[in-house]
Amino acid sequence: MASLELSGINKTYDNGFVAVRDFNLAIQDKEFVVFVGPSGCGKSTTLRMIAGLESISAGELYIGDEKMNDVPSADRDIAMVFQSYALYPHMTVYDNIAFGLHLRKVPKAEIRKKVFEVSRILELEELLERKPKALSGGQKQRVAMGRAIVREPKVFLMDEPLSNLDAKLRVQMRAEIAKLHKRLQATFIYVTHDQTEAMTLGDRIVVMKDGVIMQADTPENLYNSP
Ligand code: ADP
Ligand code: ADP
Repeated sequence: MASLELSGINKTYDNGFVAVRDFNLAIQDKEFVVFVGPSGCGKSTTLRMIAGLESISAGELYIGDEKMNDVPSADRDIAMVFQSYALYPHMTVYDNIAFGLHLRKVPKAEIRKKVFEVSRILELEELLERKPKALSGGQKQRVAMGRAIVREPKVFLMDEPLSNLDAKLRVQMRAEIAKLHKRLQATFIYVTHDQTEAMTLGDRIVVMKDGVIMQADTPENLYNSP
């Protein structure tokens, strides 16, 4: 069963601009799908519609059997990581990771257990008492991922998560993200304008241009296509 299905999705912004047009895609459970294409082609808009951060103008979004169009973002079994990290600057790494669980009224002891488990996976154990300003870019991005995975979402969305990092760190984090996908057994949807990143990470790559899907295939098939 497809874990996520976008059927005839359109996005028209308030100013009349059509950012996404007739977007059709079925994403399998545990698949790693990458949206790639030039800046402005509608990747973020599509991801934000899946996350519930942007309304869907037309079409249908399903997760499992459930239509999600009108389900509030917080009630979708989805977590998202942004390029900008969006960490809370006044909170420690621990509190940043724990925050969403506090909101959900998860018991304190359970929160501790989960935060420590996530910090082990992402190698943040030594940094739990630090504030974001005392972290490197790569460390901040790992905290942002920690905050997302601690909720154990079925679907994990990432919008250009590595764009703010230098080239060397980008390659290193790429490998970490691939490892994370194997470990979490979750569906990943990953947005990038970097073709190499797309080709190395994706089980399937969705190539977008001007709000439309141009191609959607495995890296091997895309590589071998004319
Ligand atoms: P990408 O993620 O591929 O860079 P986006 O999804 O961010 O592209 O943007 C797609 C298009 O929609 C761009 O042309 C952008 O300028 C436009 N856009 C984004 N947000 C808005 C908005 N709130 N109102 C009008 N147009 C927007
Ligand atoms: P405000 O609610 O005043 O916008 P927040 O501190 O809640 O400020 O959010 C700051 C930024 O972090 C915003 O861009 C918001 O979209 C983002 N943000 C808020 N909560 C989360 C979260 N759980 N995961 C990722 N980003 C978040």
